Amino acid sequence: MRIQEVTLREVRMKLIAPFETSAERTDERRIILTEVVTDGAIGWGECVAGEKPFYSPEITDTAWIVMRDFLWPMIKGQEIAAAADIWEMFEQVRGHNMAKAALESAIWDAEAKQKGVPLSKLLGGTRDEISSGVSIGIKESLDELAAAVRKELAAGYQRVKIKIKPGKELPQVKRLREEFPAIKLMVDANSAYRMEDWALLKELEHFYLMMIEQPLGWDDLYAHVELQKKLATPICLDECIHTEEHARAAVVLGACKIINIKMGRVGGYTVAKRIHDLCQQNGMPVWCGGMLEAGIGRAHNIALSTLANFTLPGDVTASRRYWHEDIIEPEVTVSAQGTIRVPTGSGIGFEPRRDLIEKLTVRKERLV
Ligand code: MG
Repeated sequence: MRIQEVTLREVRMKLIAPFETSAERTDERRIILTEVVTDGAIGWGECVAGEKPFYSPEITDTAWIVMRDFLWPMIKGQEIAAAADIWEMFEQVRGHNMAKAALESAIWDAEAKQKGVPLSKLLGGTRDEISSGVSIGIKESLDELAAAVRKELAAGYQRVKIKIKPGKELPQVKRLREEFPAIKLMVDANSAYRMEDWALLKELEHFYLMMIEQPLGWDDLYAHVELQKKLATPICLDECIHTEEHARAAVVLGACKIINIKMGRVGGYTVAKRIHDLCQQNGMPVWCGGMLEAGIGRAHNIALSTLANFTLPGDVTASRRYWHEDIIEPEVTVSAQGTIRVPTGSGIGFEPRRDLIEKLTVRKERLV
């Protein structure tokens, strides 16, 4: 498979409602789409870098530059045996995993299309459908939070994750447990706490949460090792696991009991699969987190979630939870049982809506 050209597009998309975490509030996304042309097929990817460096050091603007000036020259015109080769070709570039993943995942899509198989099958996925949970941002009031949870449960979602921040966590969780004693409930702190807060986090254990996601420093594995010793509730790591080596350290040292795998955060499918396999061998479940993706990123998350050790419901939801109009056809929908059917068409199995994408595009660069 020869890599012939790439088109980068930045699209602007306004969220149906703002999404707030302990770190930031997002109203509008600036998303880079990657369209990779090979001699056999065209593949699409989506860069999950945020607008500001408040989740990870990467942002939309750095991803654009890194893809154009450093990653593209490494693959331009190259003849490759498989998309699995791409990760090693990018080795000289340190970090910038979201930029790497946006190109690498598009090449996986192209390879699957060239072979006429669903991307999920090319990755080794085994599921026909995946379990869907929701991530609910921080709300103004507890009533608003409870109403949001009620709505998502009525739509069928299998588990509820709420974003927390210091001072709001106990009232939030208490209120939800009063009204919804039996739901699968978890919290995500996005690194808002310090080790000194451990007793407060311990109090959350009264509310039998599935897990506490990324409570401490975004790159602090050691503190999570110490915290996990004090908590019976599993810690799930997200921000901390940006390489295969970090995943291995977390597993061996006991920094967590669950890992949230985001393909963009770890540099693409090759590393995501390695982390998946490592966790599987060590009896540690994983699930797929979300980054406020548009349809192409959403489609990739569905494919990834078909791997066998994605045994917990992920953050992949219906397009309509985030967008008035998504950039793929058909849109992602969720059944009344809270599941998403894995597409059976080749590649990502969803068609990018070129007309809409062109309309949303604010900058475009063709690399040849
Ligand atoms: Mg998270």
